[in-house]
Amino acid sequence: MRSSTPLGWAAAFLAPALISSLDALSNRPSYQLAGFLYLLAVSLAAYLGGFAAGLVATVLATLGLDYFFTPPRHDFVPASTDQAAGVALFFVVAILISQLFGRRRQVQRQAEAASARANRLQAVTARLAEAVTPQQVLDAIVTEGVEAAEARAGAIGLVTADGQMIEIVAQRGYEQNLFVGWESFPLASDTPMGKAIRDESPFFFSTSAERDAAFSTMSTLGGPSHALAILPLVVEGRAIGAIAFTFPTEIEFDAERRALKATLAQQAAQAIDRVRLYEAERALRQRMTFLADASELLGSSLDYEATLAQLARLAVPEMATWCSVDMVGPDRSIQRLAVAHEDPERAAWAERLGEEYPPDPDQPMGVPNVIRTMTAEFVPEITDELLVEAAQGDERLLEIVRELGLRSAITVPLIARGRALGALSLIRDDSAPRYTELDLDLASELARRAASAVDNAGLYREAERRGDASRALAHVDDGVVLLDEEGAVVSINPAAARILAVDEATVVGETAVGSIGGWSEIEDNARPERGGTRGPVTLPLVLSNGNERWISVSGVDFGDGAVYALRDVTEERLLERTRSDFVATASHELRTPLAAVLGAVKTLRREDVSFDPDQREMLMDMIDREAERLSGIVGQILLTGQLDAGRLRLEHERFDPVALTKSVVDSAELHLPTGIELRVRAEKDVPAVAGDENQLRQVISNLVDNAIKYSPQGGDVELRLNRNGQFARIEVADSGLGIPRDEHDRIFEKFYRLDPALTRGVNGTGLGLYISKELVERMNGRISVDSEPGRGSTFVVEVPLAI
Ligand code: ADP
Repeated sequence: MRSSTPLGWAAAFLAPALISSLDALSNRPSYQLAGFLYLLAVSLAAYLGGFAAGLVATVLATLGLDYFFTPPRHDFVPASTDQAAGVALFFVVAILISQLFGRRRQVQRQAEAASARANRLQAVTARLAEAVTPQQVLDAIVTEGVEAAEARAGAIGLVTADGQMIEIVAQRGYEQNLFVGWESFPLASDTPMGKAIRDESPFFFSTSAERDAAFSTMSTLGGPSHALAILPLVVEGRAIGAIAFTFPTEIEFDAERRALKATLAQQAAQAIDRVRLYEAERALRQRMTFLADASELLGSSLDYEATLAQLARLAVPEMATWCSVDMVGPDRSIQRLAVAHEDPERAAWAERLGEEYPPDPDQPMGVPNVIRTMTAEFVPEITDELLVEAAQGDERLLEIVRELGLRSAITVPLIARGRALGALSLIRDDSAPRYTELDLDLASELARRAASAVDNAGLYREAERRGDASRALAHVDDGVVLLDEEGAVVSINPAAARILAVDEATVVGETAVGSIGGWSEIEDNARPERGGTRGPVTLPLVLSNGNERWISVSGVDFGDGAVYALRDVTEERLLERTRSDFVATASHELRTPLAAVLGAVKTLRREDVSFDPDQREMLMDMIDREAERLSGIVGQILLTGQLDAGRLRLEHERFDPVALTKSVVDSAELHLPTGIELRVRAEKDVPAVAGDENQLRQVISNLVDNAIKYSPQGGDVELRLNRNGQFARIEVADSGLGIPRDEHDRIFEKFYRLDPALTRGVNGTGLGLYISKELVERMNGRISVDSEPGRGSTFVVEVPLAI
């Protein structure tokens, strides 16, 4: 430290000279007074200039006192030894005074320096305490720190998150462009910062030559660099970066200077760490708030299109400069759902641009790639090469994207249940920081929530639709069975369960083939190709309950399974069959009597043959009988037509059923085949009934005719009349062929006739019993049969009594 000042030196020379000049006065001071004044001059010089100035003043003052004021005057040799001793004493005292003041001054200067250093450090600390962003910290350190360190310039480099690079995040005092090309460089590089961080130890170079010798790469760096100090920024035992100080001159780094630099570096490290933590915490809070807002938004509506558009708007500008959402359409095409930018006009412009350049699903990067591969794309730094690649040779597009100044991008897929529904893209331009892994995590989380919201909305809609569909299915008469890919029953509507004679609860979840009787027939004949349709086909199925039914089936395969529509067509089929049987029977029935009549007439008209009266009578009888039969058949057909059309009007009259029955039997007796006995057994008090007498005659006559017809071996036909409550009961019992039990209902159906094998070729139309039943029921009566094959049949007709 320099302890003397110009003022001190001036005092050292001038003060003794001034006192010496007093010698010229007439009233000049005495030897003692001069000695005292000289001591004052020495004191002044030592006080102002320290020991060195004091010493010079001492020598000058001693010489002055000896020469000017010690007798003999104007002579250096003192007159006596006493006087010589006086001068020597003066010299010693003056030296002591110089020393005393010099020491005091030195101590004072040291104290001042220490306080100045403390002040500077204090200033750094104060600035650091105020700093809340990394940039502010860096500014504080580099500005105040450079001063405190007496440096000319300073820079801070931090290790990047991946630990590979050093980034110069702040600098001050360097010539412009010094860091061009050095904004970031590998941690492993042969640079002072790289080595300081790697070794966690500082470097001090007193000259630039020293530096260049140690780090050859640095010699290319221009600028008037001299001494250089580089210190690692260590936090919790780990170097997070380094701080560099460049000095205006060559400098010797003594222990004190080194300690000061170390203190600065330590403060810088802590401040950076604190701000980083604060920053991380703030960013985390911001992310959490954003996620919470987004979740609330996503949960607020089932209109996912509107919600996703809102979500995109929520992401700008904090999360992204641009945010877009693309969705996969039903035909696998990619459709832009929303684009958001702080400026709505820019967003609209981007939307138009998107329409102009629709995404190509095979594009090797960007949204189509993310959707295809279901993996996120993270581009922390959008390079120009990347833009060139993305533009795929389109110069105009390249120009547009270049102008946008895009910096960093994240595209994440929206995945729900293993399917990519779309993608969310976040892009930042130069005005915002680059995306980090944390942002990628946030975007992924956001995408996950958005996808599940979209999926939920879809599921909800689907459930609603299915709810509607299943409600509808529960009420339709057609059976619907839904199978999954493995052929297991996913759902079966009540109609299908009824048609297939199964219980819905027991078949759902089971394979159809294993749990539904007859399903293998359906599989064999109606199973559609993948994605195709088949049917309808009509199949006879033996159901789980053993019944045989005719089922019409059609199947549609929809990729994940198949749906079958079923209809029980047993009735239609039987009706169809009986109808065609009827056509055959009726034509046969009509042809037989017609042939007989025609034959008889032709015979009668033959002129070459002469008939005796008996023969003629027989032929005329035949014509009569067959014409009767013909008219009966035609009558039955006409009556059926009337009944079906609802055109038959019945009388409501009171009549005696016993008399009626007897008259029917009387007419039947007229042409009774041999071997048949007809009998009527009526209880005495069968009351009058109410109804249409003629039609009831038709009914009883039908039953009697049948009883006779279906007793080809002959036998008794008995008609019994009695009262059964409010009904008169008429039974027609024969001992003929009989009817199997399970046909008892069907014989009353239109056109239905028993198997010819059972009826032994007896003629008929299958209309008699149908007409009888219709007529009886229209008279508010009822008709039934009790019969067994080989044991005869008893038909029972009950007609309400007249009141
Ligand atoms: P059809 O003209 O064939 O006699 P119906 O309607 O009168 O027509 O009778 C329907 C079927 O019922 C007959 O084809 C016959 O098989 C059976 N059937 C009717 N009555 C008797 C009976 N008394 N005994 C045996 N089978 C009968």
